[in-house]
Amino acid sequence: MLTRLSPVQVPAHEQHWLDTVESLAKTFAETVASDDAEARLPIDHLRALSATGLDTAFLPIEHGGEALSYATLGQVVRTLAAAHPAVATVWLMHIGAAHALVSCSQPAEAEFFAAELRAGKRFSNALSEPAGGNYFLNSQQDAEAVEDGWVLEGRKLFVSGSEAADHLFLNSRVDGAPAFFGVTVDDTISFPPIDETSGMRATRSRSMTLSRTPLLASRLCAPPAPDYSNLITVGFGFVSIGIAESALDALKDYATSRRSPQGTLGDAQWVKSDVGPVWAEVRAARLMAEQVSWLADQKSPDAMPAATETKMLANEVAKKAAALAVRVGGGSGYLVRSPIQRIFRDAQAGALMAYSVPFSEELVGGWVLDAE
Ligand SMILES: Cc1cc2nc3c(=O)[nH]c(=O)nc-3n(C[C@H](O)[C@H](O)[C@H](O)COP(=O)(O)OP(=O)(O)OC[C@H]3O[C@@H](n4cnc5c(N)ncnc54)[C@H](O)[C@@H]3O)c2cc1C
Repeated sequence: MLTRLSPVQVPAHEQHWLDTVESLAKTFAETVASDDAEARLPIDHLRALSATGLDTAFLPIEHGGEALSYATLGQVVRTLAAAHPAVATVWLMHIGAAHALVSCSQPAEAEFFAAELRAGKRFSNALSEPAGGNYFLNSQQDAEAVEDGWVLEGRKLFVSGSEAADHLFLNSRVDGAPAFFGVTVDDTISFPPIDETSGMRATRSRSMTLSRTPLLASRLCAPPAPDYSNLITVGFGFVSIGIAESALDALKDYATSRRSPQGTLGDAQWVKSDVGPVWAEVRAARLMAEQVSWLADQKSPDAMPAATETKMLANEVAKKAAALAVRVGGGSGYLVRSPIQRIFRDAQAGALMAYSVPFSEELVGGWVLDAE
């Protein structure tokens, strides 16, 4: 796709990680259609990423990592999302959960989770609940106090990659207040039959039932430091940007190969006029997402609100680019074998995932109106 030089660059000494991911992403793209059709968790791809040392490299230096930048995180997620959005989403949830546990746990537990990540163990986010929706950070399920902490009887929803998870970043209400824990998956956790999603099917985003699952006091997380940027919040916009870029690529492939007596579909004035502004919107969203990663690397308190503003735009731009690809692709793009129909379904998920676009719109609008 046509690209322009961005002011936010991956640090030169981290570029090799992006080269590695770009090379792996090409092989991941080979299974994106079949993983979607079969709703199959691409666990081999996720393990391949871990085997390169990438997951470990995101850990803080004191835990054996390289403290890779948010600039690199963003480009890794964008590259993966363009090739295989489910890999990008499950990987982001995994690295975000692990990083949060290492950053917010007590020292011994932080090192335990870091060692587990270094050993290739997998992490998921178990935050969403049946009645929680966009208020997923305020659990409505009360944990019962026991000798060494609490136990939780309840359900979690939409837990991406949970079937392969060894550990969960999980929340509950404790003494009336939100509390976040590192939880090791054990036989108190079960998986009712899956209710498959229509897009992002290979995330295997699904429900979990908790039957007196231990929430150990020793694994209660502290609130994040004020200058800590959550990896998932920073990375979320890049998932939608990767999907938007793949929509424009699929559109271009079709439009430039579809012949008519007048030339190709790509020669048609209406196609050019529709593609131009959507491409510019994708570029605008990407610049905003890259600015978010820059703010996070500066440890700026603006990083998290700017990420919400960016996700709001990027989610809608992905839907717009995918809808345009459907329009240009016509009946051919509607065929099950076309990448366009899969990209269209995948593009809807970002806007639904918390904070959803309507929820964010109200939030961001309030910030604008309240600003001095
Ligand atoms: C593919 C996928 C993967 C996911 N992976 C995970 C995961 O790994 N871990 C996890 O914990 N969760 C995950 N989730 C859950 C997700 O992040 C959200 O929590 C969940 O989708 C939101 O649920 P809801 O639509 O029921 O929200 P609700 O808040 O009930 O919203 C319902 C509808 O109302 C709209 N709405 C809400 N507020 C407003 C408002 N103020 N104005 C106008 N409209 C509004 C929403 O946009 C939505 O359309 C995943 C979801 C999906 C789809």
